[in-house]
Amino acid sequence: MPWTDVGAQAMRRLTRAYLVALALLGALILAGGLLSSELLRRQSDRAAALHAAAQLPFTVQRIARLAPLAATGRDAPALATVEEEARVMLGVLERWGVLAERIGLFSDPGAAFRHTGVQPLLQAAESFALRALAIGPLLEAGQPDLAAAAAFALHEEGKETLAPLLRDGANTLALRTETQMAWIQRLHSGLLTLALLLLAAQAVLIFGPLTRRIGRLAARLEREARTDSLTGLMNRRAVTEALALHLARGEPLALIAVDLDHFKEANDTEGHEAGDALLRAAARRLRRCLRRTDIVGRIGGDEFVAFLPGVREEGEVRAIAERVRRALHESVPYRNRRLRLGATLGVALAPGDATTGEALLRAADAALMRAKRAGRGTVGRAAPEDSARFQREAAIAEALAGAGELPGLEVHLQPLLPLDGHGGPFAVESLARWSHPELGPIRAPELFGVAQRIGRAVSLGRQALALALREFSALPRGEGLRLCVNLSAAELLAEDGVEGLEATLRAAGLDFSCLVVEVQEESLLGRSGQRGGAALAALRAAGAWIAVDDFGGRNLSLAALLGPRLDLVKLDRALVARMAREPEALRLGAGLVALLRHHGAEVVGKGVETAAEGAALRAAGCRIAQGDALAPPMTGPELAAWMRENGALALRSAP
Ligand code: C2E
Ligand code: CA
Repeated sequence: MPWTDVGAQAMRRLTRAYLVALALLGALILAGGLLSSELLRRQSDRAAALHAAAQLPFTVQRIARLAPLAATGRDAPALATVEEEARVMLGVLERWGVLAERIGLFSDPGAAFRHTGVQPLLQAAESFALRALAIGPLLEAGQPDLAAAAAFALHEEGKETLAPLLRDGANTLALRTETQMAWIQRLHSGLLTLALLLLAAQAVLIFGPLTRRIGRLAARLEREARTDSLTGLMNRRAVTEALALHLARGEPLALIAVDLDHFKEANDTEGHEAGDALLRAAARRLRRCLRRTDIVGRIGGDEFVAFLPGVREEGEVRAIAERVRRALHESVPYRNRRLRLGATLGVALAPGDATTGEALLRAADAALMRAKRAGRGTVGRAAPEDSARFQREAAIAEALAGAGELPGLEVHLQPLLPLDGHGGPFAVESLARWSHPELGPIRAPELFGVAQRIGRAVSLGRQALALALREFSALPRGEGLRLCVNLSAAELLAEDGVEGLEATLRAAGLDFSCLVVEVQEESLLGRSGQRGGAALAALRAAGAWIAVDDFGGRNLSLAALLGPRLDLVKLDRALVARMAREPEALRLGAGLVALLRHHGAEVVGKGVETAAEGAALRAAGCRIAQGDALAPPMTGPELAAWMRENGALALRSAP
């Protein structure tokens, strides 16, 4: 069973056990709560009964003592006290009767009142009080003898039997209450102990194994996430992290990039198993000819890297790389045959060639490319200019890597103007401007190139677009002026490409009808061209114009013209320059302009630096141009002033 299933199964079992234990604990707590609230209620009833019972013997005694005096008829205060006490006694008896019933004393008379039982005792006490209340009426009725006899009987009964019996009863009740209290306490501590035991059992039997298992799974997951499963070496992520860690400590180290020769052959002709055998053999040999402290990983199909902490001399790393090259040069036994193996290597040194992991890996890769050009089975070293470039790009990448927007990004605007000198700008192109805190101004292609490599092209492009829209909105413009934005392939192919652009436009209070989307020819060709074409068609349907940039430069593909409809084609700057110098180029340019216009696209000449270039474009039939000779890229306010000065506010008609 795969280990993830084992883990899931164990987790399920443990979760179930945990839930059962939790339910038990809950039931225990609930039962304990209900039980103790019931017991406490009873206990408070008992305390009230006890209090009442404790009063009665004294009341009886007082009545017994004062009754003879009261019966003489001469001591009015005594009679009043007797009557008052008797009434109090009747009140207490009534309340006690209710309580005694409630706490079940009547059903257990033997235990509560050993001699008489509760009911007779209460009746006796009641009769006692009633008789005490009869003394007054007897005296009033002129029967002092009867009153004296009653008082005497009360005196005897009260002192001799009733008071002791009541005292005895109250004591028994108190004793019983104490016993019950002790019992409640025992019950409580029992429940508490049970709950604690259950908690401890949960901790030992459930949480312990659970956390241990989770810990083991996490460790395994982490290990597997860092390991190349085929060779058991570190994978790209692990190598990059280890490299960053070493470099951050400022340790010198050497990096060797290894690319296997003949791997693809074996993989294609002998099958994947043979390819795997080669990779495993290469991994074993690499490990064997390096020190234990050296770090080795597989970072791609047949690409390995090793970094050697502490190695700072080129000679030293070259010697080690040579040893690796020889070790990898021996063929590998496979099913009674031998598979050819070999390797090309590139070396780079930190801090000499680069100081960040990314730059060092690229330097080693560039060294590898040089070695490959020199012939397979060799060791190469990066050229100093490569290293300088990688260092620089690494610094730019670092500035870009921070979350959020790139601080200090600006856009300049350059107008696209009619070559006949009449009317205002046809459109303005937004060009990103940014300065690195240490490296100074960075050209847009370099900035966007790095952004593309580290996956920041889309967010950077959106930031530039938002800035451009702000500048564009502030221009003194009539209807119809459009904003040209350069869209990288990444932006065009982004998942939310069209929606993302629309959201940025909407945030600026604009829509696609003010936009010209400039793309490179590559975005219209090949596989990405299919997706890019669909995105461009959607943009065009939404009202944007589509322009292809640098046409007739490095490549010139007529297939690009057969994709989505192009509104604008911008001629490459080098072609424009040659058109001004070479009649042949001018003839070709004129043909191209005619072709493109016939195809329905307006043509724009780019990078016009001289009047001759402008004239050549005009001669070739081109109507619009852009370049420093006409107007350089400017900040928004500069362009606004330029437009006012040049009376360039009138607008041209659409192509
Ligand atoms: P591009 O689209 O070809 O832009 C025109 C470039 O030519 C600009 O360079 C502009 O400053 C420059 N230029 C204008 N007139 C002349 C001239 O008369 N002579 C010469 N030699 N150059 C002239 P910049 O601003 O350095 O931009 C370079 C490239 O960077 C742009 O080429 C464009 O592809 C890219 N880029 C600029 N901004 C952005 C942006 O916001 N997003 C994206 N994705 N790419 C951008
Ligand atoms: Ca452009």
